[in-house]
This record gives sequence, structure tokens and C-alpha cells, in this order.
Amino acid sequence: MNLLLKKIIAETKKYTKEGNVATYIPELGRMDRNISGVSIVDMNNNIYSAGDTDVKFTIQSMSKPIALLLALMDNGEKVFDKVGKEPSGDSFNSLKRLATHNTEIPFNPMVNAGAIVVTSMIKGNSKEEKFNRILNFFKKMTENSDLSVNMDVFNSELKTGDKNRSIGYFLKENNIIEEDVNDSLENYFKQCSIEVTCTDLAYLGATLANDGVSVITNERIVPSRYATIAKALMFTCGMYDDSGKFALEVGIPSKSGVSGGVFSAIPNKMGIGVIGPSLDKKGNSIVGIKILSEIVSEKKLSLFS
Ligand code: GLN
Repeated sequence: MNLLLKKIIAETKKYTKEGNVATYIPELGRMDRNISGVSIVDMNNNIYSAGDTDVKFTIQSMSKPIALLLALMDNGEKVFDKVGKEPSGDSFNSLKRLATHNTEIPFNPMVNAGAIVVTSMIKGNSKEEKFNRILNFFKKMTENSDLSVNMDVFNSELKTGDKNRSIGYFLKENNIIEEDVNDSLENYFKQCSIEVTCTDLAYLGATLANDGVSVITNERIVPSRYATIAKALMFTCGMYDDSGKFALEVGIPSKSGVSGGVFSAIPNKMGIGVIGPSLDKKGNSIVGIKILSEIVSEKKLSLFS
């Protein structure tokens, strides 16, 4: 497997030249577009990797299914009274549907509006306590107790997150966010600024692929039902408004982020983490998708093949 991954990284390197690194969060614009890497963790905790797997980057939207798990554990499925389960067909930071549907809830937890609602529902007595619960939960899911927040990216999001603030205030005005909106936005920005490597992402995927159970300790981290929900929503909504195309071309539950990472959870088989900062028009990593699609076709991993 290591040899195959090495070959795939070499063959897909050329795609790092296509597309653009995200700059709407200025600090993300500093990422090196030339990096690419992949890690795989299987159900027996074997790790396979190739390329730039030591590089740290912020988790961004890949945090959304993980925060959803914690919100589900805190509130049960009444989370879905405040956020839907359907693909939106709109870009990840769209305000359009919220504004035209007025008091309707966000389409799903994988678009920004839904994710901000989800983060607002995570329990704690203060914004600090809520965030500590988020960070500790991410540490468990990644099997990495050293995770921390990249403060430069966090401050950059705080300064420039006006679109997300508009979404947050809109949701607050319509009583979909019931908590303090500024605290909720701050914790959402902070959750997006947690730094990870490809290997951390592969462990996230592996824990989900293993039905919510740690592949290292065999401890159950999340209830089976919630792990299923996260994988299903990643599958239908995880690649923004290209989720349908990705399902067809690649066919595994995955979640991307604007830092250029993608993580996948292939049920009962493996977790995969990839990085390649340069993005297509929908905000997905160009080289990341190529790497995933090569692995899936070489190993016949599509859920539909
Ligand atoms: N923090 C980013 C934002 O809210 C996350 C978006 C993403 O990765 N698509 O804009």
C-alpha cells in the first residue's frame, strides 16, 4: 500500500499547479500550493502514508461532521429541529436560501449556516468551557492529544468573517440560534482553526469508518447511530455543491475544507486523509480529489462498485 500511495502522489503532483489557494481568509493564502500528501488508517490501526504528511493545516469545514457528533451527543436528534438533512445545491457560505426562506432552518450541518447552528448547540457553562469540550472531543476522534488552535488563522477569520457573522445574526434573529451569537461564531471560527495533519484526518475517518469506535483502544467514542448520521451527511453534503458529482466519480463519504484537506470514512475498511491547498471553483482540493479517486479506483473502494 505504501508503494501505491507513493506512486499516486508522484503521478498526481502536477495537479497542485491547477486552481487557487483560498485567500478570503487572508492567513490561508500563505499556504504552500506545492504540497500534497495522503494517509490511510485501517481498522487494525495500520498506517500507510506518502507525501507531505507532516505538514500542519487548519481543519476548516472538515470540523463540521465532528462538531455535529458532539452536538448530537449533547442534545440527541433534536439537533435536526434546528438544522436539516438535505443537500442545498448552494455554495458553503450561501445566505441566499436562508434569506429567501426566511425562518426556515439551514439545509444541513455541512454548510456554514448549519455548522454555526450546530456549534451553538454544544453545551458548556461559558464559551471557553464549550470550546474546551470541542477541542477535547477532536483530540479523541483524531487519537491525538496534542491538537491545538492556529491562533493566526483564528484571528484572521475573526477579522474577516463578515459573511459568517451575517449568517449568524440572521439565524439569531430567527431564533434558530438561541445562544449568544458572538460566542457561537467565535467558537465556530476557533473550531475551524484547529490544526491537523493528513494522519489526524485519517484517524478521524477511521473512527467513523469503525462505527464510532477507536481503532487503537477499541473504546466507543460516539454512538453507532450518530457515526452513521455523520457518514451519511458527509456522503450527501460533504463536498459542498459538488457532492453529487463526487458521489458519482469517487463514491465514498468525505468532507472537504478550504485549507485543501479532505477526509473520508469508508465503512468497515479505512479512514483516508489528504492535503493539497489549491482548490477548484467549489472550494474542494483539486489534487486531494485526484488522490482519493486514484486510491478508490485502484482498490475498488467506491460504495457502488
Ligand atoms: N472557516 C471557513 C468559513 O467559515 C470554513 C469554510 C470551509 O472550509 N468551506 O468560511
